[in-house]
Amino acid sequence: MARYGIAARKSLGQNFLFDLNLTRRIARAAGPLATGTTVEIGPGPGGLTRALLEEGAAHIVAVERDPRCLAAIEELAAAYPGRMAVIAGDALALDPSALGAPPRRIVANLPYNIATALLLRWLERISAYESLTLMFQREVAERIVAAPRSAAYGRLSVLVQWLCDARVLFDIPPRAFTPPPRVTSSVVRLAPRAAPLEPAGKTFLECVTSAAFGQRRKMLRSSLKSLGLPVGPLLAAAAVSDTARAEELSIAEFCALARAIEKSAPGGGTARRRFPAKSRNSRRA
Ligand code: SAM
Repeated sequence: MARYGIAARKSLGQNFLFDLNLTRRIARAAGPLATGTTVEIGPGPGGLTRALLEEGAAHIVAVERDPRCLAAIEELAAAYPGRMAVIAGDALALDPSALGAPPRRIVANLPYNIATALLLRWLERISAYESLTLMFQREVAERIVAAPRSAAYGRLSVLVQWLCDARVLFDIPPRAFTPPPRVTSSVVRLAPRAAPLEPAGKTFLECVTSAAFGQRRKMLRSSLKSLGLPVGPLLAAAAVSDTARAEELSIAEFCALARAIEKSAPGGGTARRRFPAKSRNSRRA
């Protein structure tokens, strides 16, 4: 950082990690790295990148938005010839699912301001990845792995766990970073499932979880009214009690609701606007 005059920028979510024990631990958790491609989002000055290389990553594609970090990361690439490519750009505008040869894995100490948005995008083509080893602020990690009937259980838990096995591996305290963030961080490992937990159309699952958790304290017979469909028959078709609340439903029950909505959506006026034909068949699971 000193050599390249990099002062951390909050707007880019820059909290750098240089502790070799911790970066090695993350690199090992992401492994094995000897085949295919390791995509690192936001390498910054390259602390974690160095550990990935030392742990035997055969080929790294590093995507960094901050031009100030590129010289540092290019220096690292030069020290490991042929093992690393650097893409200067915005990870939000890039689909990593076709970068490099498979098996493909994503590893990142994510910029927390866009971490959830990035994860939701990567879920779109989750079958392109062998694993995702990602650092989030602890509260987000807890939401990702939360079980029904817990305070952290929500839309993110359902959408992630529907497609992935999700585990929190370990926490990292603020003092390990430069500069220290205000929150504790957690490393999460996501292993995409061979098939989604239950069949459901992604668009419908997104809509029903959004409506249900948008008013999580209300009973579903009330919160799901915003879908613009008769709620009673929907809940009956999915065998879900009409007095249930969002946080009581399993992922399988949300999938049953998504299927029931898909069946009834083509008939309804509001539903037709809400679920346009183009997206209706998107990602049938
Ligand atoms: N991997 C480094 C480490 O562990 O020390 C840096 C992690 S820091 C939390 C997040 C990194 O993501 C920063 O280098 C930042 O510049 C980069 N970043 C922020 N927004 C980005 C974006 N939209 N696309 C790509 N990289 C981004």
